[in-house]
Amino acid sequence: MATHTRRRSERPGEPGALLDPLQGVPTLTAPLSILKTEGLTVRFGGLAALNNVSLTVPAGEIRGIIGPNGAGKSTFFNCLTGVLRPTSGRIIFNGEDIAGLPPHTISRKAIARSYQITNILPGATVLENVRIASQSRHHNWSMLRHHRAYADVIDSARAVLADVGLAGKEEELAANLSHGEQRNLEIGIALATEPKLLCLDEPTAGMSVAETHATVDLIRRIARDLTILIVEHDMEVVMGLARTITVLNYGEVLADGTPAEIQANPRVQEVYLKT
Ligand code: ADP
Ligand code: MG
Repeated sequence: MATHTRRRSERPGEPGALLDPLQGVPTLTAPLSILKTEGLTVRFGGLAALNNVSLTVPAGEIRGIIGPNGAGKSTFFNCLTGVLRPTSGRIIFNGEDIAGLPPHTISRKAIARSYQITNILPGATVLENVRIASQSRHHNWSMLRHHRAYADVIDSARAVLADVGLAGKEEELAANLSHGEQRNLEIGIALATEPKLLCLDEPTAGMSVAETHATVDLIRRIARDLTILIVEHDMEVVMGLARTITVLNYGEVLADGTPAEIQANPRVQEVYLKT
């Protein structure tokens, strides 16, 4: 890195030379972090489900969160979304500490999640499922009495359904969708709340190979406008999607790095060989 910069400065004709006065000012080149946890700890009685978890996620990144069963992955998501109040530590989202805020307040701050267990309304249509989520985004409910505002909500619900590959299924009952389609509908429900940070808990669990591929494509597509945290057991999926991966083990961060670094890490290999 240093060598590279020095070489640039020796060639004043090159555009890179213009950057030289900024050398040694890392904040100008470091990506802005959208999420930062500091010492996040959750205790259930004597058990620390999360123990002093500190991590930073730059805006726009897809971050994989992996680790054996019971490592604290879902607990981490529960804290981020307000389902659980951490015992201690901070969760800085967009510069604000959101630790311990209730779920509806956090949702308004633009964090959404899909659950490990599908969480749709089976007796409602596909469109209704997304419309209801989309409406919750609008603070002023009376606004929806106006025909135009209602039509806008329907339009954006349809756009979300197209994003998650469910165009043409709007009037189906959610219960009648295949398992894979239901999981993608759940991502649609989360997207309808217009999140900046989307937490996906095992989005491909129980999917066929073809459904898994389609969901990976879908996640890549929606990631263009979002920061995504993804808990995933399928190593091929997470290694292919994530830019960086955090490994949790017994509630602690065991390793952080690129997929290649994580795969080569002996401590990570040991944890996965044991399970
Ligand atoms: P993961 O999602 O990585 O499989 P979890 O976050 O679900 O792990 O669980 C982490 C640990 O915390 C586990 O030992 C689990 O049994 C425990 N745990 C999770 N939720 C609760 C709870 N509500 N009460 C007591 N223990 C819990
Ligand atoms: Mg879990």
